[in-house]
Amino acid sequence: MNILVINAGSSSLKYQLINMDNEEVIAKGLCERIGIDGHLKHTPMNGKPVFESDLSFPTHAEAITAVLEKLTSDEYGVVSSMDEIGAVGHRVVHGGMEFTKSALIDDECIAAIERCIPFGPLHNPANLIGIRACQKIMPKTPQVAVFDTAFHMTMPPKAYTYAIPYEYYEKDGIRRYGFHGTSHNFVSSRALEMLGKGPEGTKIIVCHLGNGSSLSAVKDGKCIDTTMGLTPLAGVPMGTRSGDIDPSILEFIMNKYGYSASEMLNILNKKSGVLGLSGVSSDFRDLDDAADKGNERARLALDKFAYEVKKFIGAYAAAMGGVDAICFTAGVGENSASMRESIVEGLEYLGAKIDPEKNKVRGKDAIVSTDDSKVKIMVIPTNEELMIARDTLSLVK
Ligand code: ADP
Repeated sequence: MNILVINAGSSSLKYQLINMDNEEVIAKGLCERIGIDGHLKHTPMNGKPVFESDLSFPTHAEAITAVLEKLTSDEYGVVSSMDEIGAVGHRVVHGGMEFTKSALIDDECIAAIERCIPFGPLHNPANLIGIRACQKIMPKTPQVAVFDTAFHMTMPPKAYTYAIPYEYYEKDGIRRYGFHGTSHNFVSSRALEMLGKGPEGTKIIVCHLGNGSSLSAVKDGKCIDTTMGLTPLAGVPMGTRSGDIDPSILEFIMNKYGYSASEMLNILNKKSGVLGLSGVSSDFRDLDDAADKGNERARLALDKFAYEVKKFIGAYAAAMGGVDAICFTAGVGENSASMRESIVEGLEYLGAKIDPEKNKVRGKDAIVSTDDSKVKIMVIPTNEELMIARDTLSLVK
């Protein structure tokens, strides 16, 4: 069966068509500037030419129509008709307490995703637009929602509660949810495969380090803690997000500069993290270049990032009573040997020792610890689209 995976943002839509007989991507692409004007890049993987052009995308519906037209066209297509698309899997960012796993989309599921909008005001509405557009254009094709939060729903109360009056949890659902769950799930499962182990008795720390970054502690194959919180602003510093800070800083800055709550949150979401600290860039490659040329704040931003990730590794080893594997994934985790080295440096006491030669690897599955390292250090490229397609297949089968 071929499964279309859709990741709809407010003005963009990424897609992959995956043949689940061999889990190969047969086409992929990106619609951009939806609601502004419109641009599509469509890449068939069967040797046919890439299509790239400006198109008119007043809404997500026109974008999805264009994608389906390209997928089935003579010139750029990979299937002969829409009947060859067996199901659609949608990435949905916030599943709140409503979803502990992926779900077949029906009216009740859509209503539940709507109830989670207050927690994911930027993402869930866009995800819903993508779902509704597909329902309209492909009414007979089953659709599945796969949630960024679902993998983390196994956390125990001591990990997911905040130490604020309990009524905010009970009445309002204020708790840690965590994000990147599809990636943490994929990477921890792949780590078990590479270790040749079943989940029972294993302790894995996944470091998803990209533009957004989060860590998770996965014990017996289940998430027991993660760094992001009610929203993806919490945890380690990120490209432009602050991560955890003393909450009183908000009041101090807001009073001094007369900022509203949303102006303050904009600073924490868009102007902080390694960008805010360095004043150089949110991109780790730019920071590496600047630090190499002697820029001290770029060096500070890189040091701060590595330090906070290292601290959470220590915390999660403590939470699980040990660690068997530390896995690195996403843009920075998969590609930056120097960042992996900085993070793991000094963790020999835990039994984690990196092999500088093996660590030169980029973007492919590898074990980069020394042969005598008790803790395996692993690089595992994430594949959220494949995970979404697998979940979709298992629900529509
Ligand atoms: P997103 O969270 O948007 O999915 P990615 O996982 O693609 O992000 O990660 C993007 C980040 O990965 C960028 O900050 C980029 O600088 C970083 N990155 C990519 N390649 C390298 C590299 N070779 N060295 C250091 N950082 C890299």
